Parts: sequence; C-alpha cells; structure tokens
Amino acid sequence: MPVKDQRAPHAPKDRLASLRAELERRNPAQPEFHQAVREVLATLDPVFAVRPEFAEPGVVERLVEPERQIIFRVPWQDDEGTVHVNRGYRVEFNSALGPYKGGLRFHPSVNIGVVKFLGFEQIFKNALTGLGIGGGKGGSDFDPHGRSDAEVMRFCQSFMTELQRHIGEHTDVPAGDIGVGGREIGYLFGQYRRITNRWEAGVFTGKGRGWGGSAIRPQATGYGSVLFAAEMLARKGAALDGQTAVVSDSGNVAIYTIEKLQQLGANPITASDSTGYVVDEKGIDLDLLKQVKEVERARISEYAAYRGSSARYVAGGRVWDVAADVAFPSATQNELDAEGALALVRNGVKAVSEGANMPTTPEAVHILQEAGVAFGPGKAANAGGVAVSALEMSQNAARTAWTAERVEDELGAIMRAIHDVAYETAERYGAPGDYVTGANIAGFERVADAMLAQGLI
Ligand code: NDP
Repeated sequence: MPVKDQRAPHAPKDRLASLRAELERRNPAQPEFHQAVREVLATLDPVFAVRPEFAEPGVVERLVEPERQIIFRVPWQDDEGTVHVNRGYRVEFNSALGPYKGGLRFHPSVNIGVVKFLGFEQIFKNALTGLGIGGGKGGSDFDPHGRSDAEVMRFCQSFMTELQRHIGEHTDVPAGDIGVGGREIGYLFGQYRRITNRWEAGVFTGKGRGWGGSAIRPQATGYGSVLFAAEMLARKGAALDGQTAVVSDSGNVAIYTIEKLQQLGANPITASDSTGYVVDEKGIDLDLLKQVKEVERARISEYAAYRGSSARYVAGGRVWDVAADVAFPSATQNELDAEGALALVRNGVKAVSEGANMPTTPEAVHILQEAGVAFGPGKAANAGGVAVSALEMSQNAARTAWTAERVEDELGAIMRAIHDVAYETAERYGAPGDYVTGANIAGFERVADAMLAQGLI
C-alpha cells in the first residue's frame, strides 16, 4: 500500500474505508481475512480519537500486512505408494511483542486467506495475554481423516522438512489447531529434532507431558473459554452453576469446555462434528465422548449409538436450536450465523463464549449484543490455549515442569486479567459491556505501542 502518498489530512474514518478497499483489492478471494480485518477496524475509531499517533498513516497499514508469508510444497506417499502433493503455509504476521506464535491447522479448507485471518486474530489474542508473544499461524490443506498413523507421520515429516528452516524458539513457535493434536505434534517435533540435531523444546508447544509439554495445555483453551464465560456472568450477577450449556464440536476445545463446565456445576447437553450433533438430556458423558472421538476417531453419531435412550443424534443439524442458558461455539469459523443467534436469543441464552476462532458471523454478533447477551469474542475467550503455550515456553526455557495446580492457577489468573482488561477498556472507550470493542482496542494498543517504539520496520 502506498503509505507515503496518504499523508493528506484525511479523517481516519475515510482513510480506513479506503484502506479496507485496498486490502480487499490486494488480497483477492480471501473472505475470512477481509472479515477479520473489517471486524477489528470497525472498533478502533474511539482509540484513534484519543491516541492520534495510532491513526498516522503507516500503523494500521503495517498491522494488516504480514511480516512474512511462506507457501510450500508438501509431497508425501500414502500406504499404497501413491504420491500426493499438498500445500503448506506459515504466515509470520507480527513480531512486535515477541516470537511469532500460533498453531498449525490441517484441514481441506485451509488456504492462504484462512491462515491470514487466523494469524491476524492471533496478534491481538497474544497481546491480550500480556505474555510477550507475537502473532502467526500455519497449516496445510491435508485432510487427516481416514489416514493411517503411518500416513500422518509421513505427511508431518515432509511438512516439517520445509517448515524447520523458518521456525525456532526465538523466531516462530507453532502449536496445534484443527487436525493437529498430540500425535501430529510428536511427529512434527521429532522431525525438527532430527534435521536440526538440537533439543530445542521451546520450538513447539502442545508437546507430550513426558518430553517438554506443559500440564493443562490440552485442557487450556476449553477451560479458559468456560472461565471467561464465568467472569462475564459474574459481572451480570449470575454463575455457571446449574446452567444448561450447548457446546458445538467434539474436538480438543469442545471436550475440555464440557469438562470444565461439569466441574463448575453446569450441564452441557450437546456435542457435534461436521456431520451433525447429539443432544443428551442427562448431560454429556465425557468418558464416552473421549472414547468415541479421541480413541476411536469415530463420528459423533456413534456417541448416541453407545449412549442409549438419553441421547439423540440429529444429522446435519446445529446445536443452536437446543434451548440453553450459555453457548460455546467451539468448532470453526462462521458456524454460528444470524439464524443460529436468533434461535439462541429466543431460547433466552445469557452468554456466548467463543472457543473457536471467529465462529460467530458479524450479523450474529450484532443480534446477540443487541439482545443484551454477554458475548466473549474468541481473541479474548479462547486465549487460554496460547497463554498456557507461553507458560510451556517459560518452563522449557527454565528446564522445569510446573504442577498441574500451578498451571491451572496461572490460567485462571490470566483469563480473569483478559476479561477485566477487555471489560474495562470497553467502558473507558464508551462501549460498556462490549467485549468485542474492549478486546480489539486493548490488544491493538499493546501492539501499536510496541510497533511505534520500534520504528518503521
Ligand atoms: P480439533 O481438530 O480437535 O477438532 C476440530 C473439530 O472441528 C472436529 O470435530 C471437526 O469435525 C470440526 N470441524 C472442522 N471443520 C468443521 C466444519 N467446517 N464444520 C463443522 N465442524 C468442523 O480442533 P480444535 O478443538 O483444536 O479447534 C477447534 C477450534 O478452536 C478452531 O476454530 C481452532 O482454531 C480453535 N482454537 C483452538 C485452540 C487449541 O488450543 N486447540 C486454541 C484457540 C482456538 P470433523 O471431525 O467432523 O471434521
């Protein structure tokens, strides 16, 4: 973008509108990235009024342009010997606050626009944790569904053969996301170690507990999302105890969302995957859910088949139609649309906490906020995962391993702090109760301050 040519004294609003148009022109066919940028820029006007230095040409223009975008070929062979060629990505978006940090996603829907949306969100999320981590994200259009362990291992090794030259404990630190769990992280870390001949534990987070991983990392995103909801409810004088919850998905985030809800006395009654959902009037049986999804890697319909009469499987349906007090979208982007939001509001939902990244469409966010529902955006509500990843990096640097109790205490304190800074920032900028505005501005202030201090780079 021609930053130099924009020194004319335009109002920030006009400049932002032309910046958005220019961004869409220069990044065509990346609707998720456009959406994520639009959503953040729409909330920044109040901060520009108070901190005009942030509105100077060059700050936002740099913020929306990744520092580095890497796209690479990933060839691998399946068990029959057939060769496949996937595409790998790593977008190193912003390192003003620390090394790039963000997960890898393996899913057929992954493309450069999806990775950029996730990386852009990650900048603000990581800033909100206060833990000195920049923003990045990566992945591949590889689909692990139905692949053998050996196939997944060969893919991961090929992926890391290229990625290893771009990452490092002080440079860029990946972790898991959709399709990348403990198994994949083991294969990826093993190949990194083999190629570099270094035991560099801090290059990857989400590692196994016995080889540098942190206690509570698998649980952290789901637990954090529930803790965030509890804080939002507390501000309204309510508590999670006794509330009915709908949770979408049955992956890592969903499973530990359900676990923490049960620990706090709530009753989560749904789980789903891309084929449909189950509703269990007795409350989700977590051991059974883990057995079906984590051990057997089967479809969610199997849960209902094993569970018997209390559970019903709805093919192709969405959990938002099930009446509940609190809702946790925990699958993927744009899964909760206007229709889903209207159904939640009709059923009297009090709070929605985003475990996934950008799962709620802009129209749905508007409907929920207009109806007075406490809405926790992902960049605040699901920051517990990356926060414990940063704690894993600290433990690796100190060659130590904290107890689960210590990590969980730290996670609780971090989620409270994120909630409070989002809440208080929203109030300070004249948008009380609007966690979207509060989280965006609080994250933006931290990153923009660091960028300005570090000069034009
Ligand atoms: P998992 O791989 O553990 O689970 C992913 C789940 O998402 C699967 O059940 C999958 O169902 C479902 N899914 C994928 N695509 C779709 C789709 N198009 N429609 C419906 N369901 C879909 O992923 P995670 O639990 O790690 O991640 C879930 C969300 O949480 C993502 O948005 C991720 O970015 C976000 N997140 C994750 C963090 C983490 O620590 N893991 C941290 C912060 C955010 P199926 O098997 O049928 O494809």
